[in-house]
Amino acid sequence: MSLDYDVIVAGAGMVGAAIGYGLAAHGRRVLMLDGADTDFRAAKANFGLVWAHGKGYGQPDYQRLSLSAVKDWPEFSGRLEAESGITLAYEREGGLHFCMSDKELCDRAARMESWQAQTPELSPTTQILDRGELLRRFPLLRLGNAVAGASFGELDGHVNPLRLLAALQAAFIARGGHLRTGHAVSAIDALPGGGFEVKAGVHRACAERVVIAAGLGSSVLGQMVGLDVPIRPQRGQLLVTERLAPFLPIPASGLRQTGEGTVMIGVTQEEVGFDLSTTSDAAARMARRALQILPDLAKARLVRQWSCLRIMTPDGAPVYASSRLYPGAEIALCHSGVTLASFHAGAYARALASGSLPNSLNVFHHDRFNLQKVA
Ligand SMILES: Cc1cc2nc3c(=O)[nH]c(=O)nc-3n(C[C@H](O)[C@H](O)[C@H](O)COP(=O)(O)OP(=O)(O)OC[C@H]3O[C@@H](n4cnc5c(N)ncnc54)[C@H](O)[C@@H]3O)c2cc1C
Repeated sequence: MSLDYDVIVAGAGMVGAAIGYGLAAHGRRVLMLDGADTDFRAAKANFGLVWAHGKGYGQPDYQRLSLSAVKDWPEFSGRLEAESGITLAYEREGGLHFCMSDKELCDRAARMESWQAQTPELSPTTQILDRGELLRRFPLLRLGNAVAGASFGELDGHVNPLRLLAALQAAFIARGGHLRTGHAVSAIDALPGGGFEVKAGVHRACAERVVIAAGLGSSVLGQMVGLDVPIRPQRGQLLVTERLAPFLPIPASGLRQTGEGTVMIGVTQEEVGFDLSTTSDAAARMARRALQILPDLAKARLVRQWSCLRIMTPDGAPVYASSRLYPGAEIALCHSGVTLASFHAGAYARALASGSLPNSLNVFHHDRFNLQKVA
């Protein structure tokens, strides 16, 4: 059977679309198969932060990966905008993590110091700002009395995630890639002579390699090619206000003002399985904290509340793995697909195109979960 494609990517969400876009730059014939609108799609409902500060606490490799991804974002987004013709509304002027008491600020400072110390080879990119310094730097901020200060990550930023997804898919097609939506992969079979036959209902296509990047749909697909990765859904709820005049100059964890003026307030972390409900309890908690930080929000009208599910691995770090039983099958999973999009489209896709993942990514193999169990 002739191979129709070099690579088939299962999933065209935030991770799959970035990988497909990257692969298509290397002259590979790439087919991207995506599921249905009824699938869980974190790509379409996330918070839009491009964020490294504090990420990978106790996990220096994940910290390095996140920092490297945010450093690559300006170049990545510039190229993607030029190729897709879609403005991403990406801004990188830093990000804040507000602390609501002196004790919280002290604890945050200690945590950020340990986080920074994990990677002594990298120059520091975070600072602790007390309330006075915060107000000096950001005179627009009208902070609640309880705000004692914040940690500040100078490489952090935010983007419109819907435009990011649309741009990745459009630029993938512009690079010669083939995208089929409404084609959920139903089977992946290894071919005797090498390569894979991928079935999506009655449709089938063959390729030398297959990359599983189907978010929460990846568990089922991974099992077909020896990539049995333990993932679980974790619910995140968000609130959105009406459009307001600019008053939050840079994004914060759980609080950001979009280019259109709406304010996104979030985000919960709930272990409730595949339940996508929204709750008034979560809305009250998120709104209360937001009002403590920015009391002026009390007058804002809330226009929407929604939830979506994170793709969580047991330790929260990404999984990048090649199948040992079925060479040529890969899996890529993470819960920060917006932040890591520059990596997926860049170094990760380059490595796939060259034939194999570098040893530096071995730490992200899901074997680590079995080793943790034995230990
Ligand atoms: C509340 C919330 C807030 C978040 N905020 C941020 C943030 O601020 N910054 C950040 O970096 N990340 C954030 N994330 C995480 C980010 O959204 C995800 O990491 C990212 O969307 C994961 O991309 P993915 O492609 O793996 O999965 P998804 O984006 O969910 O896409 C999976 C795709 O696979 C398709 N699919 C499923 N099954 C199949 C199949 N059998 N065959 C073919 N296709 C299939 C689906 O249709 C879907 O299109 C947030 C997530 C949540 C839940």
